[in-house]
Amino acid sequence: MYNRQLFTAALGLQSPWEVVRIEFDPQGRRLDLHLDFARGSRFPCPEGDEARCPVHDTEQKTWRHLDFFQHQAYLHARVPRITCPAHGVHQVKVPWARPESGFTLLFEALLMALVCQMPVRAAAGIVGEHDTRLWRVLHHYVEKARERSSHAGVSQVGIDDTSSRRGQDYVSLFVDIPRPRVLYATPGRDASTVGRFAADLTRPRRGPRGRGGGVHRHEPGLHRGDRGAPTERGDHLRPLPPGPAAVGCG
Ligand SMILES: [Zn+2]
Repeated sequence: MYNRQLFTAALGLQSPWEVVRIEFDPQGRRLDLHLDFARGSRFPCPEGDEARCPVHDTEQKTWRHLDFFQHQAYLHARVPRITCPAHGVHQVKVPWARPESGFTLLFEALLMALVCQMPVRAAAGIVGEHDTRLWRVLHHYVEKARERSSHAGVSQVGIDDTSSRRGQDYVSLFVDIPRPRVLYATPGRDASTVGRFAADLTRPRRGPRGRGGGVHRHEPGLHRGDRGAPTERGDHLRPLPPGPAAVGCG
């Protein structure tokens, strides 16, 4: 009983959620925490402000959580779908994970911290997951951050390219020089990369594109195939005269 309360508190679970069963397998280096809610519990509608909707049915789900010492930890719960008078049947949002993810929010935070410091494949090796699962998490949070970012004040853009592997797989980076920050990255190093960047920069949700300034690029032939952080290559960039030639790449 005490263990269930301990893990309920450690997970930060709020009523009606609680840990109802614990399975610990030292040989298998695994901890499984089963979460549940009391019969008759009601949940807020994810689509509106109705706070007490009855449960329609449930779907069993599992999430990888932060390791418990050297043991992999998993949460299991039957996630309810509620019936909202205004919006119909919808699956509720659980507080420990985002919808459609097989990882808890805390585990995703760990993954993001790891992939900021090392290649995704290396991070996947550390946590014992396939890298495709990590890429899905990474793409989600990168897109989320890009949705929030405003490029309205962009006035000077630098273009640099580097190889994504040892070979000829080039990636072009578009950098907001004054700040500096990477605005956009895309495969290739030809002129079409500029078109893709322009389309991304002028997406309606981004607001005005910014005024004045010009487009810069690094010196021809400076490509060295290094993998330094994009923001560290600002010293490679130098102004070019304005005009169509200035936005050429390659
Ligand atoms: Zn509703």
